[in-house]
Amino acid sequence: MATYFWLKKEALSTSMADLDGLSEEQAHSFLAQMRWQSKDQRVCPDCAVQDKHYFRRTRMQWSCKHCFKTFSLTSGTAFHGHKVSYLTLLKALFLFAMNQKGISALALRRHLGVQYRTAYVLMHKLREALMVTTEITPLSGHVEIDGGHFSGRKRKPRKVPEKEKPKLPKKYQHRDKVGPAENPFHKNRRIIIVFRECDTRPLDQGGRPGAIRTVTAICNAEDGQVVPLIERYVKKGSKIYTDELPAYRKLQYIGFSHDTVNHSQEFSTDAGVNQNQAESYFSRLRRAFIGIFHRITPRYMLDYSCEMNWREDMRRTDLLGQVTDLFARVVKAPHSTDWRNYVRGNKRQGELRTIPGL
Ligand SMILES: [Zn+2]
Repeated sequence: MATYFWLKKEALSTSMADLDGLSEEQAHSFLAQMRWQSKDQRVCPDCAVQDKHYFRRTRMQWSCKHCFKTFSLTSGTAFHGHKVSYLTLLKALFLFAMNQKGISALALRRHLGVQYRTAYVLMHKLREALMVTTEITPLSGHVEIDGGHFSGRKRKPRKVPEKEKPKLPKKYQHRDKVGPAENPFHKNRRIIIVFRECDTRPLDQGGRPGAIRTVTAICNAEDGQVVPLIERYVKKGSKIYTDELPAYRKLQYIGFSHDTVNHSQEFSTDAGVNQNQAESYFSRLRRAFIGIFHRITPRYMLDYSCEMNWREDMRRTDLLGQVTDLFARVVKAPHSTDWRNYVRGNKRQGELRTIPGL
């Protein structure tokens, strides 16, 4: 039987203990090496020339040998214009990667010794970087799809006399039951639709068990809104596995091969049809929602789900590999428009439902 990845020896090639006693200069050169994959060669973000640019030690910045512009380690990245030290950034990357179900901003604050809002914005910049750098080619092959209901649940009230109970608006009163999506008392209720591509290669030919790529989208209900998303996210001709929800019935007529499993009877049919990879995605997100974040509003729900997409897809990479990938995504992401100047009142307008560009 295969050993669980995090019990293997190679999973502990690096740990948080390696950061003990690290100086600001060491953290800076470590991150610079991660960004440019070189000890002394740097690429100017303005003229894109790679060279040994002049290093201005007092400001921890480089002056370009060719266009004479000044740039720093984080110029043009998701951390552009940050004020915290490089050591703090490096520790934040490690803490973000090593906490398997995410880390709350209040906990990060205690680890780093920064203000709550600094930790909060830092975490959201990371989530946004993961979201905007998601690979945007459609999923193909074996794809499992499922929806999970998140947020907006009304708290169970104290016992209220029947006549004092809040009434549903008149247009709903003729029904005995209103679905969560249209129930006005559940206005923050959203459904996260997850799409997971599984590796179909046999294990002895380099195939990996389970899902290898995950993307998500946000819906109000698992109904007609789902099919256009599937057409956008999944390549025609792919094999799709879902539960028996009526919303998915149309798939076999629009160019997909579609198999279902009846969840009221079994997790997997005798023929092996299941969507357990899609179900297991919600296991991590649900635990993060209950135990770490406690509250996720629709405005930032896609960001939180993208964080979990990354965690799922990187689940068999060691800590240093995760931190390297995370920082590479931060470098690839542009300067955030939603999170710059957040503490001065700038914030995202409206909700984000699908990954930008996909
Ligand atoms: Zn230059």
